[in-house]
This record gives sequence, structure tokens and C-alpha cells, in this order.
Amino acid sequence: MNRARRLATTLHDLRDAADSLPDAIVLLDETWRVRWFNHAAQALLGLRPAHDRGVLLSDRLHGSELAGWLRAGARAPLHDVAAPGRAEDRLDVSLQPFGRRQRLLLARDISPLTRLEQIRRDFVANVSHELRTPLTVIHGYLELLDPQDVPALAPVLGEMRAQSKRMGQIVEDLLTLSRLETQEHVTDERVPMAGLLATLRKEAEALSQGRHHIHLEAGAELDLLGSPKDLHSALSNLVSNAVRYTPQGGHITIRWQATPTGATYAVSDTGYGIPASHLARLTERFYRVSSSRSRDSGGTGLGLSIVKHVLNLHQARLTVESTPGQGSTFACHFAPERLLPTET
Ligand code: ADP
Repeated sequence: MNRARRLATTLHDLRDAADSLPDAIVLLDETWRVRWFNHAAQALLGLRPAHDRGVLLSDRLHGSELAGWLRAGARAPLHDVAAPGRAEDRLDVSLQPFGRRQRLLLARDISPLTRLEQIRRDFVANVSHELRTPLTVIHGYLELLDPQDVPALAPVLGEMRAQSKRMGQIVEDLLTLSRLETQEHVTDERVPMAGLLATLRKEAEALSQGRHHIHLEAGAELDLLGSPKDLHSALSNLVSNAVRYTPQGGHITIRWQATPTGATYAVSDTGYGIPASHLARLTERFYRVSSSRSRDSGGTGLGLSIVKHVLNLHQARLTVESTPGQGSTFACHFAPERLLPTET
């Protein structure tokens, strides 16, 4: 076999191999025009072999989220977008530079994963919903029972009430999480921060019952734009954690301040702190550094998950700094699009 034939065979084999991949591959030239694509790109992106060589990919996929991403420069990988060629499928897409200013677009079909994820979400939502009524009934009867009428039950009645209340709270938190997970947008309402911060401080004082020193530093004359109910729930979760994980006599500071990149709401405490190895996993459901401490202080293990979801819906970020034995700072960073000057 001469050299040219050998090269042609190798090229043929490489193309066959690329065509057998379940992921879509598109080679783009330096002007983002389509040079070549594999079989999966026909199905997932809707590209047509006879027509689409040499076309501008963003024009060809016009109207799709993918086209908008390409036009904006395709900087970060794109997660979970509709497949332009198959409306019911979802893709993860990335763009890798190669050779001389050429690019390789990779699109992976993640539909089986997203379907499983949907089944998980529906299951959790249904179970939580089904548990709600029986728990309300049990809790109602426990509240009605008077320890004086049933002296034999008196020692355990308090514990039974506390546990049924805790189960009720877990179910409510799971339902909140299910709602937040399926929600794509929040309402754009003004959330006056002066009022909200005063409420958060009162909540901290009520929960602390005088066991901590509570400080409020409201430096920013800015309000938030978003869902008042969800923001209150997220910001108060951080306050309640600070109180629950700080021993008596500790300090808790609630701050609201403008920063060069927007504004930050932060809650600092002088409490138990969290070892660095746990920080990355704190927002996972039911993740606890110490289960007994969480349970004893009335935690459901879902608070920080709720915080993360609410912040995501407001395009905000959570950061955590902590030193074991010294304390922690949980901060929510809001971008300028979510801020309004306070009304005078
Ligand atoms: P929980 O209901 O258990 O408090 P969260 O999701 O709110 O659940 O928090 C997850 C875990 O993170 C807690 O169990 C606790 O171990 C840790 N944690 C959260 N906030 C603090 C804090 N301010 N100081 C120390 N540990 C904290």
C-alpha cells in the first residue's frame, strides 16, 4: 500500500470511529464555520450532511440557546440545554480550541441522566406530600393530649411532640426544596433590606434567648430584587445556624454591605467553626458536620441546601470561611442586577 492510500485509510478509520461515538462532534474553522461533523451531530444538532458544510454554526442553529451561547463567544461550558435536533433531549456542550484557531464543539446527550434526576425529584416531592397529612394528624392529637389525663405518658409526651414537630419540619423543607428545584425564575419584587435586616435581628434574638451578643451592621443603602419569601428564608437560615452552632456568650454579626462587585449579606459567628475538609459538601442535602449537634439544635440538615437553591435563583453565590474553634462567616454575594437603591 502506498503512503497516500495508507493516509486515506487512516483518515477513513478516524471518521468511522468519530461516527460511532454517541456524542456530537463538530469541527469549526477559524471563522466558526462548520468543516465537518459526525453522525451524532446530525441527530442531536440537526445538521444535514449535504447542506451544512461551510455554514456559520450560530446561524444554522438560529433561535436555540446553543446559538446564543456561540454568539456570546462560548466561553464556559454549557450545561443542560435543549438539543436543537431533538427537542425532548438535553445536552452538555463545550468548545475546545485546537490546531490553528480551529475549534472542536462537543455535545453530550445527558437526557438519560436528566430523566433519572426528574424521577428522583418527583419521588421526593410525592413522598413528602403524602407524609404531610398523616404527620399533621399525629401532631394534632399529640398536642391535644394532656399529660395530666395520661400520667403514664407524661415522661415521653414531650419527646413525642418534639419528634413529630421535627418530622413535620423535614417534610416542609423537602417540599420547599422540590419547589425551588423545579422553579426556573423568581418574581422580581423589591425587598426592602432595612425591614428585612431588622426582622432577621429579632429572629436571632428570639432564638438566642439572650445567650449571645447579636450585632447588626447595615452599611449598604441598597434593597434586593427578587422573591421576598425565599430571600427571607435563605438569609434567616444563616442567622439560625449561627445561633445554633455558637455556644453561649458568643457573638453573632449580621452585615449588609456594598462591595466593588455588588453587595454582600454576611453572618459571622464566634462558634464551633467547621473543619476545611467539610466546607465543599455543606450545601448537600442532609450533610452535617456533626449529626448529634445538628439534631440537638433542631436542624433538619436541609437549611444550607435551601440557601444554595434560593441564591442560584437570584444569580447569587454563597461563600463560607471558617476556623474550627473560632467561628464562621457565611456570605451571600449579590450582583448589581439584583440591587436597587433604597427608596427615601
Ligand atoms: P442543619 O439543619 O443540620 O443545621 P444545614 O444545612 O443548615 O443543616 O447545615 C449543614 C451543616 O453545616 C450543619 O449540620 C452544621 O454541621 C454545619 N453548619 C452550618 N452552619 C454552621 C455554623 N454557623 N457554624 C458551624 N457549623 C455550621
